Amino acid sequence: MKLSIQNISKTYDNGVEALKDVSLEIGNGMFGLLGPNGAGKSTLMRTIAALQDADNGSITVGEIDVAQDKQALREIIGYLPQEFGVYPKISAHDLLDHMAIMKGITDTKQRKEVVESLLHQTNLWEAKDQKLGTYSGGMKQRFGIAQALIGDPKLIIVDEPTAGLDPMERNRFHNLLSEIGENVIVILSTHIVDDVSDLCNDMAIILNGEVRMVGEPIQLIKGLDGKVWKGLVEKSEMTVLEKENDVISSRLYLGKVQVRLFSESPLDNGFEQTNPEIEDLYFATIHGLNINGME
Ligand code: ADP
Repeated sequence: MKLSIQNISKTYDNGVEALKDVSLEIGNGMFGLLGPNGAGKSTLMRTIAALQDADNGSITVGEIDVAQDKQALREIIGYLPQEFGVYPKISAHDLLDHMAIMKGITDTKQRKEVVESLLHQTNLWEAKDQKLGTYSGGMKQRFGIAQALIGDPKLIIVDEPTAGLDPMERNRFHNLLSEIGENVIVILSTHIVDDVSDLCNDMAIILNGEVRMVGEPIQLIKGLDGKVWKGLVEKSEMTVLEKENDVISSRLYLGKVQVRLFSESPLDNGFEQTNPEIEDLYFATIHGLNINGME
């Protein structure tokens, strides 16, 4: 199946242009939508999920025109929103059961199978009778995925799933996402580069409501081959370095600053060539560097 987003724009009542002429073609597999807070990710996710309308443009999922046939879309979509509120006094089992009814699984036996299988799949079986209010952040996110998977959706949207999870919970969540079948579209919206590099076969970078880069991570990184340089400098050297070079990123390391630079020609400042990473792509894009492969 294919999700086709064409020329979508959205301006909120307060004048914020959250999406500016966004177009994307997304096929089966895991698609990473990477961008900083405020980039427009949630707005795009909610528009795809038919929870809000765009001002212009169209979105089709397979044969379904999202704006025209919201009901048809709801039957094939699973959505884990950024803010997933749970009823704290209900058990995971009971809420999942209730949500399965809402999704139209009215046959008791079939629903029991669906609910129990999802609880196993998300590793919540042992805690299924615990009230959701007692769940950790990671358990709540896994519950969020369980409810998103009810009814075998063909399009799954996961908005900022690992923000606030500790590394172990995040790892578990990644494993769970990676087990979702290959014959569905999964869109992972995130500001965390590792979420995309660990999981996604396709990606886009969104900034200020605009898609700045799109492609397969491996191919996009290839475009940076031989052009990323790393070095360790004193904090006092940073101002001059930034003035004279395209700084991709810098972080403190052992009291000094570890810097990654973009340069098409060799540098004679002691910096050495290093393998490009998705993080380089992301920071270079955010910092507006004119790297190859940029749209
Ligand atoms: P992201 O998910 O990438 O953090 P959002 O789509 O939530 O980005 O927000 C994009 C921009 O639109 C931000 O500037 C945000 O403040 C603004 N925005 C989001 N929702 C609304 C809303 N309901 N009303 C007004 N502005 C909004």
